[in-house]
Amino acid sequence: MNKEILISVDHISHYYGNHCAVDDVSFSVHRGEVLGFLGPNGAGKSTTMQMICGVLSASAGQITVAGHDMFESPKAAKKNLGFLPEHPPLYQDLNVDEYLRYAARLRGIIKAEIKKAVETSKQRCGLSDTGKRLIKNLSKGFQQRIGIAQAIIHSPAVLILDEPTSGLDPNQILEIRELISELGNDHSVILSTHILPEVQSVCDRVLIIHQGKLVLDESLDKLQQDDHIRPIKIALRQPPPPEVLGEIEGITSIEQIGNHHFKIYCQSDIETINRITKMSVESEWELYEMIPERDSLEETFVQLTRGESQSLSDEKPDENPDEAGEDSE
Ligand code: ADP
Repeated sequence: MNKEILISVDHISHYYGNHCAVDDVSFSVHRGEVLGFLGPNGAGKSTTMQMICGVLSASAGQITVAGHDMFESPKAAKKNLGFLPEHPPLYQDLNVDEYLRYAARLRGIIKAEIKKAVETSKQRCGLSDTGKRLIKNLSKGFQQRIGIAQAIIHSPAVLILDEPTSGLDPNQILEIRELISELGNDHSVILSTHILPEVQSVCDRVLIIHQGKLVLDESLDKLQQDDHIRPIKIALRQPPPPEVLGEIEGITSIEQIGNHHFKIYCQSDIETINRITKMSVESEWELYEMIPERDSLEETFVQLTRGESQSLSDEKPDENPDEAGEDSE
């Protein structure tokens, strides 16, 4: 992709006391790209996002947003960023217009431009008819839209969304995902989530972070290409010995999980699947079930983040006292 790089994260690390939460992470985000940021609990997602937003400093490394160094010129860098935290800071007793006007003032939009900024962000987030409604009377889905509207009020080049669909019902989830896809046309979006289908439905590229290290940076198209090894469960009424199945071209390994059931690891291309079904018919194995166990993103995620449980380290050691009050805006 030759598009302009809007976020560049260059060898950043962050220590909480002696604990390395983010370890030498580098990546970049281009204009018009929606990037999914995945990782198990405690992997370092929030710490990384907070560094990109300039809320936490980096122990090492550099971050630039639209060409501005986040640590040397935080004001200029933050002008180009919009952030939706997991729990958006909404004032429940304000109406939507009042709240968005307030957000616009906080973002330094000049008085003459505020009305237009509020109307545009409401319109983009499907809030045009809600201006006079009190926030506390709106559904969680609408409140999330308001959170997104405040994040885009100053038309930032980059949008950072932390778990934007958490706590929403299935219809609201679909609506917010559609909105994110639309916003992805004009902004660069970083979407932190642990919901894999969300990444599949809205992202162009996926990063996986595990124990503070970046373990994957790949386009979704590439991940979903058919050349990945994926487990498939098959059931045969008259199975041959597993070694015979293992001889089928494309099968890399095989595990017998019952008298009739096998888990086979194979290239998930259509030719391999066809060979298995054809052999089964020719050899009268009576294939009656064939179920892909996981899709390629899920499989990749599990493979890359398997191992030492992160939940053990979820307990937070003391914050480094040097870092209090770092927000330099
Ligand atoms: P994620 O967002 O992926 O769940 P975090 O970035 O919150 O991960 O946490 C990464 C690691 O840093 C975890 O081991 C977590 O316990 C630790 N951590 C997070 N915040 C703090 C903090 N304020 N003080 C000390 N340790 C923290």
